Amino acid sequence: MKTDILVIGAGPVGLFTVFEAGILGLKCTLIDNLDKPGGQCAELYPDKPIFDIPGVPYQTAQEHVDALLKQIEPFDYDLILNERVESISKKDDVWLVTTNKGSRVETPNIFIAAGAGSFEPIKPNLERDYSSLEGNKIFYAIKDKTLFKDKKVAIFGGGDSALDWTVELQKVGAEVSLVHRRDAFRGAPDTEISVRKLNEERKIELLTPFIIKDIVGNKNIDSIKLFNTGTKEELDINADYILFFYGLNKKLGPINDWNLELSGNKIQVNTENFETDKEGIFAVGDINTYPGKLNLILSGFHETTLAVQKAFNRVYPGERVPFGYTTSSKKIHEKLGYSEK
Ligand SMILES: Cc1cc2nc3c(=O)[nH]c(=O)nc-3n(C[C@H](O)[C@H](O)[C@H](O)COP(=O)(O)OP(=O)(O)OC[C@H]3O[C@@H](n4cnc5c(N)ncnc54)[C@H](O)[C@@H]3O)c2cc1C
Repeated sequence: MKTDILVIGAGPVGLFTVFEAGILGLKCTLIDNLDKPGGQCAELYPDKPIFDIPGVPYQTAQEHVDALLKQIEPFDYDLILNERVESISKKDDVWLVTTNKGSRVETPNIFIAAGAGSFEPIKPNLERDYSSLEGNKIFYAIKDKTLFKDKKVAIFGGGDSALDWTVELQKVGAEVSLVHRRDAFRGAPDTEISVRKLNEERKIELLTPFIIKDIVGNKNIDSIKLFNTGTKEELDINADYILFFYGLNKKLGPINDWNLELSGNKIQVNTENFETDKEGIFAVGDINTYPGKLNLILSGFHETTLAVQKAFNRVYPGERVPFGYTTSSKKIHEKLGYSEK
């Protein structure tokens, strides 16, 4: 696959890159290891309000992501999810980017919009290797809730995801057991009330204070061994599927190995075009650092707008970067599919 700009990370800054590149006629390919676009906004605080997006007095973080997705709809771009960019290499003036699932993309421009690094699910610390069950019986996120219809599902965790999915999967007909190490939850109090009510009505089973000790089975889950931290009793439960919602770790991960100039966990860039010390590799948004850097969405938008100018030069050497106001440029209107009435 070939693309004008390969964007690592589909957070707000990665998404807005598609817009700024699109109005210059450049095509982006975005890769994110999460199962959805939106980065921190979608993963960490979708329902929380944001008040400092210029011209938008109030938006929840998910509304912000949805608006960005709407804004880039007119443009042709690829979005590859559930894949982590692992390695980069250069041949002549072209970068080759490879993911953990073997996707390979050639590009003159890499935009690292990787935020705080890749989010990785926190897994339980079990002695047994249960990797043969991961991805088919054990999940850390849900792509299609209908998979769980009429199935037994054991959900582990005490935050919003564990509570929300307990309610949601019960609605689609799953037989849910929610297991948590304490009899107190970190998620939204309203959802906790719903969960406790479902438990009282015997529509779900709430198991607290339990921790997981073992998962028995290779192709299927034969049993799950739990330990009650209060009574010290052991309990075996059965389930077709296990969902672990223990939260996410942020890791700089493979970016550490790309020989870029780093400052702590951040990539050093210049403030003219947000290029790193490697030509054709830019770093925009929370992942970069420079004097005066602020980890705000609007800073990332500014950075990527300038970076795209230099990326254009690398795709069309010697050509002047077109500039036009979105208000009045006919060419931009055509690209956006807008016609004046
Ligand atoms: C609770 C909270 C509240 C906030 N409130 C505000 C606010 O009010 N206003 C504001 O402006 N900002 C706010 N922020 C900060 C804002 O969310 C960040 O500035 C913004 O998300 C940065 O966007 P980004 O696109 O640079 O990175 P991110 O949103 O972090 O997205 C980066 C993406 O890159 C992916 N990624 C990383 N490495 C790889 C890899 N190797 N391969 C594939 N994918 C990879 C990650 O999975 C992630 O999806 C808040 C942050 C938090 C946590």
